[in-house]
Amino acid sequence: MDRRKFLASLSVGSLGLVGLSNAWAEDSVTPVLFPVPTNTGISGKVVVVGGGMSGAAVAKYLRLWGGTGVAVTLVEASPSYTSNIMSNTVLTGQRTLASLNYTYDTLVSHYGVTRVNARVSGINRTDRYVSLAGGGTISYDRLVLAPGLDFDLMPGMSSLAEYETRVPHAWKAGPQTQLLRNQLLAMPAGQNVVLTIPKAPYRCPPGPYERVCVIADWLKKNKAGSRIIVLDANADIIVEKENFSLAFATLYAGVVDYRPGCNVTHVDSANRVVTYDQVIGGIAKAAAAQVQAAVLNPIPPQRAPQLLKDAVLLHADPLKPFAPVNVLSYQSLADPLIHVIGDASLTTQPKAGHIGNQQGKTCADAIVRLLSGRPLNTQLVTNSACYTPITATTATWLSAVYQYQYDPGTGTGTMVILPQHNNGKAIAASSANSDNYQDMQRWFTTLMGETFS
Ligand SMILES: Cc1cc2nc3c(=O)[nH]c(=O)nc-3n(C[C@H](O)[C@H](O)[C@H](O)COP(=O)(O)OP(=O)(O)OC[C@H]3O[C@@H](n4cnc5c(N)ncnc54)[C@H](O)[C@@H]3O)c2cc1C
Repeated sequence: MDRRKFLASLSVGSLGLVGLSNAWAEDSVTPVLFPVPTNTGISGKVVVVGGGMSGAAVAKYLRLWGGTGVAVTLVEASPSYTSNIMSNTVLTGQRTLASLNYTYDTLVSHYGVTRVNARVSGINRTDRYVSLAGGGTISYDRLVLAPGLDFDLMPGMSSLAEYETRVPHAWKAGPQTQLLRNQLLAMPAGQNVVLTIPKAPYRCPPGPYERVCVIADWLKKNKAGSRIIVLDANADIIVEKENFSLAFATLYAGVVDYRPGCNVTHVDSANRVVTYDQVIGGIAKAAAAQVQAAVLNPIPPQRAPQLLKDAVLLHADPLKPFAPVNVLSYQSLADPLIHVIGDASLTTQPKAGHIGNQQGKTCADAIVRLLSGRPLNTQLVTNSACYTPITATTATWLSAVYQYQYDPGTGTGTMVILPQHNNGKAIAASSANSDNYQDMQRWFTTLMGETFS
């Protein structure tokens, strides 16, 4: 893929509103901030819950495209945002957590978003307000939910505190990322890391395999004789199979021990022992096998936060614990005044920060249209991209372009990969190399800058 077109696609997003989007100098990551218009004639009160990849984007673009008449309140539990993207490189010491920190300063000072640093504890759909954990309520004309994910306990665990103190999942960047880094540093050479991968769908499809690669690279250099044992609940590597298989078999031969089809039945977090069954091609390969870890990194199954369950916004099937939406507007199918974006929503697109940014823009455009009585844009195109470090100096990437497709049979629409884009399949880099690594740094800076400033 052409790098310039790819970076440009970030700001174009899903909309026909290119001219209103921020401009980016072609070889610079410095944004040119457009003013919030005062003359759109549109008004409304929108509350956004969660200021991550999708929530920050929707807050910004609601003001940029809706104008000063659209009052946007962003309620975020943390004082600032720590990016999950690139957080695997904190584990290897290539980045610090502080370098992944983003504030809401520009959203407030330039775009005029009202920021509330609080956790939303409840949603009253009848009277249209949200309750704050510390007390107080905020009313809305439209509510956008962008709270990311909750993490389940692994079988055998009894408290989420076990992730905080003993066996960090680090699938939300923050203190657990630092804990995992410290555990890797403290681990004796020759002992093993065990990493478990949940069944898809989960946040960032290539992310666990990326983590395996960067940890393996680090073990090779820092902990002679150590291995990383990967217990994958999926039957096979779910994305970029060629690139990851090649890395496991060549670069990391003898370091990565990849075991597909593993159903974890028990995690003893105190002793870091994992019990699992392994089924390959319908045949049980190992029953009740156990592995002992020096460092245990269980990536748990994930679901939309309890807040959405309490508000009865989730799919009726417990195996799909996310919020069904109309992908033209991200309106919840249970409540048209509530929009759900990012990882908490149920769509055919991956749970990823790049797509969260695109969903934020799509949702902002849809709300502006709904507030002004205009029809939704059915010519919707979004794109997803993930860069993946394979070593400390090389990376691969995966990208897909989605288009809205209406099915008259069911009366609903979905986002499908453009048939002309690699025969309707995501496209992956042909190999891991250092050019991709450089592009990854630019992509990340551009995506984060575009989302938070
Ligand atoms: C290791 C790793 C690597 C990744 N790499 C990539 C990558 O290369 N490319 C990519 O595109 N994606 C990547 N991702 C995925 C990406 O980080 C997520 O998909 C993305 O952050 C989801 O965006 P979101 O807006 O749904 O949620 P988040 O970004 O998680 O934001 C949710 C926000 O909501 C807040 N919140 C939650 N509940 C409440 C509440 N009740 N009240 C107030 N605030 C609340 C949280 O504090 C948080 O700030 C990666 C993820 C991981 C873990």
